Amino acid sequence: MQAVREVLIIGGGASGLTAAISAARAGAKVTLLEQNKQVGKKLLVTGNGRCNLTNRDQALYSYRGSSTDFIDTALKGFGLSETLEFFEGLGITVRDRNGYLYPCSDQASSVADALRMEAEHLRVKLALNTRVQSVRKENHRFLIETPGWTYEGDALILAAGSCAAPETGSDGSGYELARAMGHGVIEPLPALVQLRSPNKVFPRLKGLRIEAQVSLYSEGELLAEDRGEVQFTEYGLSGIPVFQVSRYGVRAIHEGRNVRALLNLLPFLDQKELDVFWQKRIRAGAYKSAAQLLVGLFPRKMADCLLKIAKISPDRIAETLTDQERQALWRACTAFEVEISAGNGFDRAQVCSGGVDTEEVNPKTMESIRVPELYFAGEILDVDGACGGYNLQWAWTSGYLAGLHSALK
Ligand SMILES: Cc1cc2nc3c(=O)[nH]c(=O)nc-3n(C[C@H](O)[C@H](O)[C@H](O)COP(=O)(O)OP(=O)(O)OC[C@H]3O[C@@H](n4cnc5c(N)ncnc54)[C@H](O)[C@@H]3O)c2cc1C
Repeated sequence: MQAVREVLIIGGGASGLTAAISAARAGAKVTLLEQNKQVGKKLLVTGNGRCNLTNRDQALYSYRGSSTDFIDTALKGFGLSETLEFFEGLGITVRDRNGYLYPCSDQASSVADALRMEAEHLRVKLALNTRVQSVRKENHRFLIETPGWTYEGDALILAAGSCAAPETGSDGSGYELARAMGHGVIEPLPALVQLRSPNKVFPRLKGLRIEAQVSLYSEGELLAEDRGEVQFTEYGLSGIPVFQVSRYGVRAIHEGRNVRALLNLLPFLDQKELDVFWQKRIRAGAYKSAAQLLVGLFPRKMADCLLKIAKISPDRIAETLTDQERQALWRACTAFEVEISAGNGFDRAQVCSGGVDTEEVNPKTMESIRVPELYFAGEILDVDGACGGYNLQWAWTSGYLAGLHSALK
């Protein structure tokens, strides 16, 4: 009779819990080690407490990392339909909000509870309050040191997360464990994060929320762009479109490159419509002051700022503006330039870009190419997603594959 395989998992987040369930369902005896007093702590804060667990649109451009082929292969192994079936089996029926999928309960806690209940039902041993200090492999067995005990197993899944939101437990220690096992780690940097600017105008714009197209440039190269509600803060830019482009800006700054954002504050007009729009506006408001001309388009604080950038006095009568001044004003509205000096830190980031080098991992199984029977799952890998459920989809995908293959070996 074949001995039951013993699978050890470090990290009880989204990916670790999924790995535990798939390994246990495939017949393994599973022990999951989690340093928090509960599993799924980060899951509770996802999607503003509602958990955007995946997305109907699974276009590859929503996933980022050094190798898109790696991500593509993994998603083909366990993608959206398998994820929905997996959750339906756990009792999580999804609610569709324009393609963004949430649990019907609208509570992230129900996703964490459903995963934990299934893991417990499958007799996964949950070792809580257990911080892993070191890992090694001796005589084909993995040995995991914790303050009170040495755990042993045939296979090990590293699902210890990234450095983002460390108050939830992911403090970057997983990268050290991966390095200790001989793996390369691409420098982790904050992603899905606010961007900071030295521009002195921000304290005055603080609190504004304006629909805009955000285009991020570095030395003439367009790094990324996105459109949505931009939030102006004391120190710079926030909001979903800023989060979406942030990983490219943070990486470029880390490489010593200059980064700037151009905000088009009239994104609903294309260039042709824009000319007609302005001509009409000036004709209808010929008697108005330049400040009055912007009433109804922008909040007052932003209008003042745009006039300042265009070097136009707010009292100037609209019809007396020269062509040059008009153009300067249109430019300020459609290409509001913001120098970016940094992103916020890991404590404010939703995820990290970078992580365990996917060149050294099998995309079909998540097994290490360097150390047999060592597997990786979740954000610890060099894969990050856009806002919209893609980071959790990556946790389900990689967790499921790692769990299954660690049990079947
Ligand atoms: C505020 C916020 C909102 C988010 N919203 C969404 C969303 O709506 N949709 C989406 O797709 N993504 C969202 N994300 C991202 C998503 O939550 C993560 O990508 C995902 O949870 C990562 O799962 P993981 O299992 O890889 O890591 P984690 O969930 O971080 O789990 C890793 C676990 O390992 C444990 N651990 C680490 N080191 C050790 C050690 N040495 N010993 C023992 N245990 C250890 C940690 O305590 C932690 O519990 C959000 C993130 C944040 C911060």
